[in-house]
Amino acid sequence: MSNESEPEQAPSTAPQTSLRFEVKLYPNPILRRPAEPIEAFDDGLRKTVADMFERMAASRGVGLAAPQVGLRQRIMVINPSGEPGDELALVNPTITDKSGPITTFEEGCLSFPDIYAEVDRPDECTVTAFTPDGEAFEQSFSGFPSRVIQHEYDHLEGVLLVDRMSPADKQRHKAALNELVDRFKRAQANARPARK
Ligand SMILES: [Zn+2]
Repeated sequence: MSNESEPEQAPSTAPQTSLRFEVKLYPNPILRRPAEPIEAFDDGLRKTVADMFERMAASRGVGLAAPQVGLRQRIMVINPSGEPGDELALVNPTITDKSGPITTFEEGCLSFPDIYAEVDRPDECTVTAFTPDGEAFEQSFSGFPSRVIQHEYDHLEGVLLVDRMSPADKQRHKAALNELVDRFKRAQANARPARK
C-alpha cells in the first residue's frame, strides 16, 4: 500500500537498478494468483524479506506483498508509520478476526501508481502469522496499521484495489486504469521476439 500523505517519488529519480525487486503493476497476471504458503524459514526467506523492505522503502510504500514483486509467496512487509524500527514482516498470515466499525479511507497501491480510491474496511483485525525466523506471531491491530494489513492480505488472495473501489471511483479512474492496461500490453509486445 502506498502512503497517500506523501507524494510518490518520480520513477526517474529512484535508484531502481540496485534493487533486486521491481514492483509489478496492474494488470500483470501475477497479481491475480493466490500466493502459496512458505514452508522453509531459511536464509532465502530472510533475504527475500530484507529485499522487500528495501523495495518498499525505495517506493515510499507503507506495505508490500510478495505477489507485487512477482513471488507467489505468502509474505507481507509493512511499516505504517514509516519510522525506522517499525517494520513488521508477516509470513503465512491469516486474519482470524475482523471487528469494529466499518471505516472509509483513501488507499493507494504501489501496483496502481497515482490512483487513490476510498475503501471500506472493518477498523480492527487480528492476525496470526510467523516471523521470518519461524516464530509464531499473533496480534490485534486497529486504525491505519489494520488497514495496511488488510490491504496487503488482499494481495495474497489476488484481490486488488480495483476490486474494492466503488463504481464511482472506478469510473473516475477509468482513463488511468486503461492507461495501465495499455502500458502492460505494450511492454508485453516489446518483450516478444520480433517475427521474421
Ligand atoms: Zn497494494
